[in-house]
Amino acid sequence: MKFLYSDTQDYVDPGYDFLNDRNSPNRERYWSDVYAHEMMEPMPYDGLLVSMSAVRQATGVASSKVRYSTREEQRLLRDGARKFLRFDGPRFKDAMLMGDCGAFAYADHPVPAYTPEEVVEFYLEAGFTHGVSPDHIIFNCDLSNPPESIVDVAVRQRFAITLANAEAFLGLVGREGMPFVPLGSVQGWSPESMAEAAHRLERMGYRYLAIGGLVPLKVDAIKAVLTAIRMRIQPDTKIHLLGFAKADSIHEFTDFGITSFDSTSPLIRAFKDEKVNYYSEGIDGKLAYYTAIRIPQAIENNRLMQGIKRGAFSAEDLHHRERKALGELRAFDGGASSVSATLDAVMDYHQFLVRGDGTGAAMQDKALSKTAALVQRTLEHQPWKQCRCDVCRTIGVEVIIFRSSNRNKRRGFHNLGVYHRHLRRTLGEAA
Ligand SMILES: [Zn+2]
Repeated sequence: MKFLYSDTQDYVDPGYDFLNDRNSPNRERYWSDVYAHEMMEPMPYDGLLVSMSAVRQATGVASSKVRYSTREEQRLLRDGARKFLRFDGPRFKDAMLMGDCGAFAYADHPVPAYTPEEVVEFYLEAGFTHGVSPDHIIFNCDLSNPPESIVDVAVRQRFAITLANAEAFLGLVGREGMPFVPLGSVQGWSPESMAEAAHRLERMGYRYLAIGGLVPLKVDAIKAVLTAIRMRIQPDTKIHLLGFAKADSIHEFTDFGITSFDSTSPLIRAFKDEKVNYYSEGIDGKLAYYTAIRIPQAIENNRLMQGIKRGAFSAEDLHHRERKALGELRAFDGGASSVSATLDAVMDYHQFLVRGDGTGAAMQDKALSKTAALVQRTLEHQPWKQCRCDVCRTIGVEVIIFRSSNRNKRRGFHNLGVYHRHLRRTLGEAA
């Protein structure tokens, strides 16, 4: 089973100065920066997924998910995605490079933002190895399998559009001589309707299906969908799970003949999750999680800056506590401080992130003691010292500090690496 990372233009400055929180001298965004697969050996995923809506602004679509500038888009299409993502060369020769439309970006539109012709042209120019037919997301998956006749007309239209697009798309890819492997996109309002869509795609000629609309679904609902689909398609038809947010439960999905899936969750959780920020290999073979230690830069933190502006905190005092927390943690890492002294210094600064949130002293005390317990666990276990990945070996304790994108993204890279290794082990495949 291949794990694809969904590209969100995540790179870091390899020469970042952690002690002074400064970029390397003369650093140029992107050009000086490195992607996770450049920084880490082995690379922390089996391939990349690039969404068209992340690269190209669709006409008439208000909500933008575009992460590429116009010049970057042009360069990606001129040079190909592999070269743009620096995912070329012998190391990555066999790695998958999949394109999809990123249908979330236009989900509230009546029709998809791109035509099958535009999509095929985009995939060809980008040089993808695999391309997903242009779909239109159906959000609600009703496990009671309501018949088509009682389903909302807009939902039925999305179902029909996705299938019609798949047929046109396959025809166009065939006319080009199949320069990439086409995947038929499955959308539906229920497990049964998704199984019906899968069956029709197979009849069109697809041998690889991409199951969409899984993002909001719980593990059991996804299983119901996959069970229904597998009942209707050939055993050798391949399945890709699009935007699989339940990546940590992948071991529960080994019976469905899944060839590949894409996810961003190991990276995103490094800096978006409240407490699951740092992945580790547990002794029981499961993933273990740690909370990163928040020591934000006072001058870059909204809540702290508001407090300073209101006159509630003094900038000088905060800065002093921030330096103390960082200093104590680094001393602890070097064996020159204790868990309790480090915890005190960290919480002494952290309290300012909570005080003044308007919830009252009792709630704030509760939140602070919860955080203190999580930080204490992180300090006691020191998981960054056990990890042998390129990130942890290079920057040590900085990886566990929740502070600035250069630390937070590196922690995300580490998470991808731990996750990838875990996946390989769980599936019993060689790393
Ligand atoms: Zn690591």
